[in-house]
Amino acid sequence: MSDIMAISRHRMGTDGEGITTLVGFYGCLLDCKYCVNHNCHNSERIRADYTAEELIKVLAVDEPYYLMTGGGVTFGGGEPLLQAEFIHEVCQKMSKKWHRTIETSLYATWEQVKLLAKDIDYWFVDIKEINDEIYKSYTGKSNKNVFTNLHKLVNLVGVDKICVRLPLIPQYNTKEDRDKSVNYIRKKIAPNLTLDIFDYIRC
Ligand code: SF4
Repeated sequence: MSDIMAISRHRMGTDGEGITTLVGFYGCLLDCKYCVNHNCHNSERIRADYTAEELIKVLAVDEPYYLMTGGGVTFGGGEPLLQAEFIHEVCQKMSKKWHRTIETSLYATWEQVKLLAKDIDYWFVDIKEINDEIYKSYTGKSNKNVFTNLHKLVNLVGVDKICVRLPLIPQYNTKEDRDKSVNYIRKKIAPNLTLDIFDYIRC
C-alpha cells in the first residue's frame, strides 16, 4: 500500500516529457523553509492508500496521451524515495511504454535510490546547495548523504538520465554560493551533468 497526497493529471512542460500524471507522496525528512508542499508533513492528513494495481488503473486512463506525446508518470512529493518499494512495484507492473520520471532531493538511503535505478527513465534531483551549513539552515539536515547518493547514481545510470536543480534560495544562498555548487558538481561529480540553474525557489 502507498501513502499518496495527490494525483495530478494532464501536466505539460513541468515535470517530464510529454503529457504526464504526477503522483505526489506524503512524507519528507527535510524541512525546507520555503516548502511548497507543507501538507506532506501533516500527520493529521487523510490518507489515500492505493495498491499498485489500483494506482495503475487510475494512471491508465490517460495512456493514449502518454503514447501520443512520449509522456507518462512522474513520482514526486514530499520525497517519493521514502516509498521506493511501492514505486518499484508500480514500475514493475505498469506498461513499459509509459515514461517514468522522479523528482527527488536524494535525501534517502542508497538502498532506496538503487532500488529504482532500473525503473526510472529520468531523475530530477533537487540538490538545493552544496554548502552544508547553508543546506542545514535551510532544510534542518546535513547534505552529506545527498552528494554520496548523487555520485553513486551518476555512476549507476549515467549523466544522460539526470538533471540537477540548483535554485537561488532567498536569505539562504547567494549567486556566489550557487556558482560554488555548480563548480563542485562539474569537478567532483561529472563535468557534463545537466544542470537546471534558476533564480527562484520552486520546491
Ligand atoms: S524536499 Fe521538497 S517536499 Fe521535502 S521539505 Fe523540501 S521542498 Fe518540501
